[in-house]
Amino acid sequence: MTRLEKIDEGKAKALYTTGNPDQLIQYFKDEATAFDGKKKGIIKEKGILNNKISSRIFRHLEGRGVKTHFIDMPSDREMLVKKLRIIPIEVVVRNIAAGSLSKRMGVDEGTALKETIIELYYKSDPLGDPMINEYHIRAFGLAEMGELRQMETSALKVDRILSEFFVERGIILVDFKLEFGIHRGEVLLGDEVTPNGCRLWDRETREKLDKDRFRRDLGKVEEAYQEVLRKVME
Ligand code: ADP
Ligand code: UDP
Repeated sequence: MTRLEKIDEGKAKALYTTGNPDQLIQYFKDEATAFDGKKKGIIKEKGILNNKISSRIFRHLEGRGVKTHFIDMPSDREMLVKKLRIIPIEVVVRNIAAGSLSKRMGVDEGTALKETIIELYYKSDPLGDPMINEYHIRAFGLAEMGELRQMETSALKVDRILSEFFVERGIILVDFKLEFGIHRGEVLLGDEVTPNGCRLWDRETREKLDKDRFRRDLGKVEEAYQEVLRKVME
């Protein structure tokens, strides 16, 4: 399946049509951005690392009954996926306090949570992805309530499966962001699941193995992504 016309390009990936109108190719780039695109850089081979990591994770999730857009990984930077109408809601799942939650609640990063938190954000670059709730989703017609329930159920299932998957590999899944979309009437998990949109900490040392190394100038960014790839392939 070759990529034909570019129909969309975001910060991390470009989307191309294929010979099949139901299928797209996600092309993973090396460009890295943070803080709503204000910080820019290149993480060497990031596109390849993230495509391989995400493909491995989508295969694992599919094997455990999670419905995703993943079809195949035809090359190092390409993922063949089912074409989605993306629902403009980012679903964030948190197992441990970090990042914006630590700031908002005034707690140290690494603070344990009594239970898993789901947060919803409106996917809008110009607005900087503001946090929303179910009322906003209804009032602005961002999704049907049935779709939202399916997204939340799927996000919690992904959390259970991936927390176990990572911990077996010596990594703590701290938090992550998911995107969903509709394909032929079905809600499917889309986009990517990589150190770009997940916080992953070494279980022993609590060293960060994710995009926070880039966001916070901690160095050894490529090395961290490579280590995640090595571990997810175990
Ligand atoms: P962003 O700049 O929003 O982070 P990316 O660089 O990740 O975007 O580009 C990928 C874009 O493709 C995103 O807008 C994402 O919602 C969208 N997308 C992901 N999977 C699919 C799919 N299967 N079908 C259609 N669009 C998708
Ligand atoms: N996240 C993401 N894209 C976003 C916002 C957040 O992938 O636009 C991920 C982020 O990598 C982390 C989780 O969602 O794993 C929670 O992020 P947080 O709200 O703490 O925001 P941050 O402080 O990272 O901007």
